[in-house]
Amino acid sequence: MSRELTARTTPPYNHFTQIGDPVLRQRAVEVEDDRIDSNEINDIVEQMVNVLRHYDCVGVAAPQLGVPLRIIVMEFREGKRELIPPAIYEQRKMATLPLTVFINPKLEIIGDVKHTHPEGCMSVRGFSAHVPRYDRVRVTGIGKLGTPAQLELEGWSARIAQHEVDHLNGIVCIDRMDVSTFTCVTWEQINAAGGRAVIPFDK
Ligand SMILES: [Zn+2]
Repeated sequence: MSRELTARTTPPYNHFTQIGDPVLRQRAVEVEDDRIDSNEINDIVEQMVNVLRHYDCVGVAAPQLGVPLRIIVMEFREGKRELIPPAIYEQRKMATLPLTVFINPKLEIIGDVKHTHPEGCMSVRGFSAHVPRYDRVRVTGIGKLGTPAQLELEGWSARIAQHEVDHLNGIVCIDRMDVSTFTCVTWEQINAAGGRAVIPFDK
């Protein structure tokens, strides 16, 4: 899935901003009506999709590319299923989510049930933690690239939506995590390699 991206040192970046960057802690602003169909916004959306696929992740919020606008893209591609143990796929209620793009999304919780599962963020690279999330949500907004104006999501897809919309409000998953579960995802490999390990930020 990885495709080459040109390194960019000004936003929109082709990499993920990392925790500590102020852009991840501010409230992103609405895209005004007259900019929604502009080349500028279409280019940002296209770039967000390219970055999502280059990093093979499941969601990107514009602030993660250094752009403080309310835009999210999500995709849980069909091929991911074979990479994930079936028991985990089932337990975490994962499902294929076609490419979904929302401008100015609003998220509504439509059930009281919460599930707690390990979650990571490309802006807290190399770590994961258990995060409680609601099981069912409704997202409304301006859909792009075939996305309807309203979508009901459950399970893992609902988790992705809550994670990405949080980014638009300056909230990162570590704000909601069970702190005692915060984990460096490669801790075992680091031991096995005698500490000679790096976290890559460009793929
Ligand atoms: Zn994130």
